[in-house]
Amino acid sequence: MKNQEDQFKKVLSHAKEYGFIFQSSEIYDGLSAVYDYAQNGVELKKNIRDYWWNAMVQMHENIVGLDSAIFMHPTTWKASGHVDAFNDPLIDNKDSKKRYRADVLIEDYAEKLNIKAQKEIKKASKRFGEAFNEEEFITTNPRVVKYLSQKETVLKRMAKSLENEDLKDVKALIEELEIACPVSGSKNWTDVKQFNLMFGTKLGATAESAMDLYLRPETAQGIFVNFANVQKTGRMKIPFGIAQTGKAFRNEIVARQFIFRMREFEQMEMQFFVRPGEELKWYEHWKEKRLNWHLSLGLGKENYRFHDHDKLAHYANAATDIEFNFPFGFKELEGIHSRTDFDLKAHEEHSGKKLQYFDHEVNNSYVPYVIETSIGLDRMFLAVFSNSLQNEILEDGSERVVMKIPSVLAPTKAAILPLVKKDGLPEIAQSIIDDLKFDFNLSYDEKDAIGRRYRRQDAVGTPFCITVDHDTKEDNCVTIRFRDSMEQKRVAITDLKSIIAKEVSMSTWLHKL
Ligand code: ATP
Repeated sequence: MKNQEDQFKKVLSHAKEYGFIFQSSEIYDGLSAVYDYAQNGVELKKNIRDYWWNAMVQMHENIVGLDSAIFMHPTTWKASGHVDAFNDPLIDNKDSKKRYRADVLIEDYAEKLNIKAQKEIKKASKRFGEAFNEEEFITTNPRVVKYLSQKETVLKRMAKSLENEDLKDVKALIEELEIACPVSGSKNWTDVKQFNLMFGTKLGATAESAMDLYLRPETAQGIFVNFANVQKTGRMKIPFGIAQTGKAFRNEIVARQFIFRMREFEQMEMQFFVRPGEELKWYEHWKEKRLNWHLSLGLGKENYRFHDHDKLAHYANAATDIEFNFPFGFKELEGIHSRTDFDLKAHEEHSGKKLQYFDHEVNNSYVPYVIETSIGLDRMFLAVFSNSLQNEILEDGSERVVMKIPSVLAPTKAAILPLVKKDGLPEIAQSIIDDLKFDFNLSYDEKDAIGRRYRRQDAVGTPFCITVDHDTKEDNCVTIRFRDSMEQKRVAITDLKSIIAKEVSMSTWLHKL
């Protein structure tokens, strides 16, 4: 636990110190749960977005993109259920005056039971070695059985009370489990209340004529209301998908954990329209595809897990989260939902317009079913950033801070470094930049000893450092240094482009999918 907290603190300070993320409006003491992406952060974020976009849109003939507006007609949110049901159950601790999401308090309690069970399993696996049968142990060891069944019972009861809107029982559960406020340690709770997460605003000049609007809480609805337009103008045949990335806004009650839970954030969503009855097949398909996308980045298979929902949202008939092992434990990174025909039907009813598809193969019109994949770009940023930040002890005992960012996502692909600031070396460095800048984002650094410059590039995750020295003038070769292995090689300037491209180019990485 302590280690996790330390790692998280390192992530926060590194993100600021090296120009990845700043608190919004910092000179005015900041705005809670709102962040700005700085010079390196904006590049990493853009590269993640591009990697997602290319994997989804460019790599699939039957998926097209969209960029719908943040403002939408207010009836959209009535139809989607957000006006009536986009609520979080909140509870206050009377002593610390801190506000919590009641469901998160209970989920954290359940996760503690899970951690206890996992500890027992790990201990036994060490003790029994090769002979260990994990499946049998989980079902027969009394302590593990107890922890896991308690966890199940707690989560099932919460799911049921939330589904029935029985907020009294949610509070009763918190009291029965003796959950204490993490700040005050007290169990003195208020009742549980529902709180709508949408931000309201007004469109129009005068108070009387202004129209009440919401800032969109998800990008998905922009896709649904454009379904018929895109299908017709793009002559799309089912199954097909529409993808979009963009800002979403939620007035989160408890905005903590840095960019994990923000009030303004960016989503990358894809809605895949399928024939009714085929949705669960496509749900499985997209579960696997999306996990593979994550695994292609090499952040470690052990850092991902699926978490199937017990409590289904009002629109879903199957749902899972891809959870990632963040510095504060496994938490949702992406949601994959089988949304049925709920949204299109609701928009049909509220708009009076037909949102159907004529399927020539079955000679019939129907409202398509939808599989959604929805990932938070900022959460993905945090996953990449926290996983990449590493402290290494080198052979000579010194420490190196290095960001082992997957090279396709690295903000800067190569740094060009003249060994000294004279003798024509900066000019050669500049000519290399002028040649490579058409293909890669580069940086130039001529200050300090070369070792310190290497470390500065390591700290922002630059995969290659290219050093121009006096021999370069004779042999037209440079030293290329690899970030992860720190290996150095002498190569011809004319080979630089292909060496870098092989490692960082989007197509190399997309081939892994
Ligand atoms: P959570 O349970 O963590 O609040 P959610 O289930 O409400 O998330 P969805 O509505 O499924 O989230 O949104 C899809 C994705 O958008 C999430 O998987 C997450 O990556 C991202 N996301 C949602 N809310 C936020 C937020 N406040 N800040 C950053 N990213 C978010």
